[in-house]
Amino acid sequence: KPVSLSKEEHGIDPRLLSNNAVRVVRILQNEGYDAFIVGGAVRDLLLGLKPKDFDVATNATPEQVKRLFKRAFLIGRRFQIVHVMFGQDLIEVTTFRGASDKPAIKDESGRLLRDNNFGTQSEDAARRDFTINAMYYNPANQVLLDYHGGIKDLRSKTLRVIGNPEQRYREDPVRMLRIVRFAAKLGFSIDKTTGAPIAALAPLMNNVPSARLFDEMLKLLMSGHSMSCLKELRARGLHQGLLPLLDVALEQPEAAHFIELSLEKTDQRIRQNKRISPGFLFATLLWTQVEEKWAEYRAKGEHPIPALVAASSDVLDVQTEKLAIQRRIATDMRDIWLLQPRLERRTGKSPYRLLENERFRAAYDFMLIRCEAGELEAELGQWWTEFIDASGDRRQEMIDTQ
Ligand code: ATP
Ligand code: MG
Repeated sequence: KPVSLSKEEHGIDPRLLSNNAVRVVRILQNEGYDAFIVGGAVRDLLLGLKPKDFDVATNATPEQVKRLFKRAFLIGRRFQIVHVMFGQDLIEVTTFRGASDKPAIKDESGRLLRDNNFGTQSEDAARRDFTINAMYYNPANQVLLDYHGGIKDLRSKTLRVIGNPEQRYREDPVRMLRIVRFAAKLGFSIDKTTGAPIAALAPLMNNVPSARLFDEMLKLLMSGHSMSCLKELRARGLHQGLLPLLDVALEQPEAAHFIELSLEKTDQRIRQNKRISPGFLFATLLWTQVEEKWAEYRAKGEHPIPALVAASSDVLDVQTEKLAIQRRIATDMRDIWLLQPRLERRTGKSPYRLLENERFRAAYDFMLIRCEAGELEAELGQWWTEFIDASGDRRQEMIDTQ
């Protein structure tokens, strides 16, 4: 039985709600279904934060949900969910999932492979990961339903797994990464019982499909607290195999410096609500590896540009084995790397052509980090910073005085 809290008791500010999420809930309720805002959005609302996305949970099946909205798409394999679109805004609608009579399909380590059993709201609450992620908010009457003591844990800033932690990590090892991310992002501590089995179960991360690992790593790196997340991952033995080369890199002081610098920049941008492209982020994380291989190829007598092309491919190949870096992201990374030597050429038509390049801005930002890390002369960064905004005459002058 859930604890039910009135608006005076939970204090959620309705102005932080998304109109579209409220609209989805209202349309479902008008059709006679139960519907709630759920999960991370409720957690953020209770913390007084504006949620970045909204999930809705309902007892309507995906098919029933889809029929009620003009732009609604069924997606997902392991669980089917409905994406309801309003312009660019996306509301994820999930049907209550159950711990059903049919046993879910698991692999030999206990990992859930398929699990599309619908259930009651209380079953749905029980299969969520943490107590603070298992609360439901009804915008119509502003009542909050708390099934697993989420309010208490939220107030004491505690992350606690629902149910038996070891079993829940076996079902889905990614939950171990999620704990670390939420702890760093929210500044919460990990309950002792919840944290205890992680070290021993860390090797289960190897069973997780690489595409999912990549998604979670991306969320972690884009949490605005990437450095503390990585430190915590290492402290708990969860880092191995996540970003194979990154892991090696963090043990080398020069590389660690560059990586820390770029993660700091990323965290800053995220906290200022600025965009970060995944390609840029991964390009910085793996750059020292590229540089190392680049030097090796040149030492073997290869010309600089082909050597850089070969080094980039090597690094991307190793990474994609473990972590499915999407092709679009890998292309961005390669472009950023391959533009680096061109930024050092400041004669003739070269700088003008570079300015026209689609990836110029990213490559330039990347070079500024290299300057700051002491890898390139600061003067090069200053030159480009001036060149970008300079008049036509001044630009020519800047090139001529090179
Ligand atoms: P954020 O979106 O801020 O990263 P979130 O809690 O909303 O955090 P999502 O990945 O969007 O995270 O998931 C939405 C909700 O789905 C969670 O709050 C949780 O209730 C449930 N959930 C997500 N992933 C898992 C999982 N691996 N195991 C169990 N429940 C999960
Ligand atoms: Mg979310």
